[in-house]
Amino acid sequence: MWGVIVNRFKQGFRTLSYPKEVPVFPKRFRGRLMISAAETQCSIDKTKDPLGAVVPGKKPAVDLGKCLFNEEFKAVCPEGLTYSQDHRLAVSKREDLIIRDNEVKLAAALNEKTRRIFGRSLKLREVCAGSCNGCDAEIQAMGNVVFDLSRFGIQFVASPRHADGLMITGPVTKNMELALKKTYEAVPSPKIVIAVGACAISGGPFAGGKEVHNGVDGLIPVDLYIPGCPPHPLTILDGLLRILDKLEKER
Ligand code: SF4
Repeated sequence: MWGVIVNRFKQGFRTLSYPKEVPVFPKRFRGRLMISAAETQCSIDKTKDPLGAVVPGKKPAVDLGKCLFNEEFKAVCPEGLTYSQDHRLAVSKREDLIIRDNEVKLAAALNEKTRRIFGRSLKLREVCAGSCNGCDAEIQAMGNVVFDLSRFGIQFVASPRHADGLMITGPVTKNMELALKKTYEAVPSPKIVIAVGACAISGGPFAGGKEVHNGVDGLIPVDLYIPGCPPHPLTILDGLLRILDKLEKER
């Protein structure tokens, strides 16, 4: 017993002071993708972009919903593509993930009535619809002492009947289609649906596969898109706090 108490003192306080303080990420962190707006600086090599994440044009755009945020992706346009340290990526509309001129579009707060219902106690049911479990691991990490999701009144529950919404990972395999639809139906209204990761948004690396759908929104409506492969726990948390309007406006 004493050993446990001594260890606890030695460990100190581990929970991040986010969102009060702006989080600091290690140098290797790959956040928001930035693309040069000048055609001359961005000659696109489509062979290096099998998922079609870069949309060519006079002002090329990048689809964050298709990007896997890997280092190799920069080879599509070595002079024009860079990753920033900005972890804020979640949006409310699918089209807002297509970035031109490096415009920052972020998720909007839910309407006031819905926020009044969910604001202080949001219960989510997680559904893994054929993911590689990378996104699920990051969702799990939100519950550890560092991120401490429950301090915001957000918790995961076992039954969709006790949930206010679904958090979905994976491209939705054909095997999971019925289970996902039934789980969605079982959540009482009003409800929200959150698609986490490139797979849940666009099919990710599985896009176009015979046994998968290309993401969640072809089957059920999505209220929050959180890109990444997988997204960082703070990226997911940022999206959740934004729809609940729990972040200061300037952040
Ligand atoms: S988005 Fe990436 S990490 Fe998440 S389930 Fe798909 S492949 Fe795995």
